[in-house]
Amino acid sequence: MSVVQETILEIDLKALQHNFEYLKSTFHKETKTLAVVKAYGYGTSACKVAKQLEKLKVNYFAVAYTKEGVSLREVGIKTPILILHPQLVNIKTIIKYGLEPNIYSNRVLETFIKEFESENLKNYPIHIKFNTGLNRLGFSENDIDAILFKIQNSESVKIKSIFSHLAASEDLNEKTFSEDQIKTFKKITTQFILKLGYTPILHMTNTSGILNYPQAHFDMVRMGIGLYGFSNDVIHTKKLKNVATLKSVISQIHSIEKGKSVGYNRAFKADKLIRTATIPIGHADGIHRAFGNGVGYVTIHGQKASIIGNVCMDMIMVNITGMSCQEGDEVIIFDSQKTINDLAKKINSISYEILTAISQRVRRIVN
Ligand SMILES: *Cc1c(COP(=O)(O)O)cnc(C)c1O
Repeated sequence: MSVVQETILEIDLKALQHNFEYLKSTFHKETKTLAVVKAYGYGTSACKVAKQLEKLKVNYFAVAYTKEGVSLREVGIKTPILILHPQLVNIKTIIKYGLEPNIYSNRVLETFIKEFESENLKNYPIHIKFNTGLNRLGFSENDIDAILFKIQNSESVKIKSIFSHLAASEDLNEKTFSEDQIKTFKKITTQFILKLGYTPILHMTNTSGILNYPQAHFDMVRMGIGLYGFSNDVIHTKKLKNVATLKSVISQIHSIEKGKSVGYNRAFKADKLIRTATIPIGHADGIHRAFGNGVGYVTIHGQKASIIGNVCMDMIMVNITGMSCQEGDEVIIFDSQKTINDLAKKINSISYEILTAISQRVRRIVN
C-alpha cells in the first residue's frame, strides 16, 4: 500500500462484499435485498458501493433524497432506486431519472398522481409507507381507503412495495413494542392487499431488524449500517468487516515547554515539557469538536496519542510525548469497528454519525 501523504478515507469493497454476503446468510434465499446507500454510502462512497453491490445483484437501492439518487443514475446504476424522503420540489427530477418515491401522505400521493397524469405516465412505480410507531413518516391505518381510492382511480401509478420502519429494532428491551409494530404492519398490509388486488413487495427491517426479527423479513430487507460493518451486537459485528479506514499524516512536530499553551483559546497548557504532532484533519473534516481536550485520540505506530486543546477547523494537535515518530509518519484515526464504536461512545454518539460526519473534503480511496 502506498505511503499516506494527506488525510484519506480508504474504502474496502471486499469487506463490503463480505458484509453483504454475511447479511444474506441470515435470511432466506428468496428474500430480496435492498441496500441503503444514503448519505454518501454512510460516508464512504455511494457510487462505488452501489456499483459493487449492483455487480452482486442487489435487488434495490434506497437513498434519502433525490439528488443522491441522481448521482447513482449518473454513474450508470440501473437497479431500481427508492427515494426514502422525496421532496415535492424535486418531483420532475424524480421522474426524469426514473427514481421511485416513498409516498407517505395524502398530500404527497395527490401531488405525484397529478404530475404523473399530466405527463401521461402509466404504472409509475411508487412505494407506500405506513407509520407503525416510529412517528416519523408514513400513512396511518385509517388512510387505507383514501389511498386505495386515489390509486384505483388513476392508471398512472403502480405500487411496487409497501413498507414500514421499526423504531427500536436494536433494543431488545423494546421487544414487545417492535413485535406490536410487526403485528400492525401485517394487519395493515393484509387489509390493503385484499382491496388492492395485487401483491406488492413488503419490507420492514433495517440491519438490526434483520438480525433481531426474522419474522419481519417479509419479501425484502433493507441493509444499511450492516453493509459498512456494524450491527447492534458484538457477535454479529465480529462477523462483519470494517469498510472505512480514516488515515492522515503528521504535518509538524513541536516541543512545548512547561507553561506554554497549544491551540485556540489556549485550551491546553503544558505542566511539563511535551511533544505534539499537528495532523491535517479538523472539525470541518468530521472530527467533532467534542473530541478536543483529551476526549478523542489517534494512533501512531500502534500507540494512542490523545487530542490536546481544541479541535480546529482543519487540524488537530495530539500528544506524542515519549513516542518515536516523525513528520510525514502515518496517523490512523480509525481502522476498525472497535475504534469507531469507542470514539462514538466518547462523545455520546453512534457509529452511524462517526462515519457520515467524514466530510466530502476528505479524499476517498477505493480499494
Ligand atoms: C436508513 C434507513 C435504513 C437503514 O438502516 P440501518 O440501521 O443503517 O440498517 C432502513 N430503512 C429506512 C427507512 C432508513 O431510513
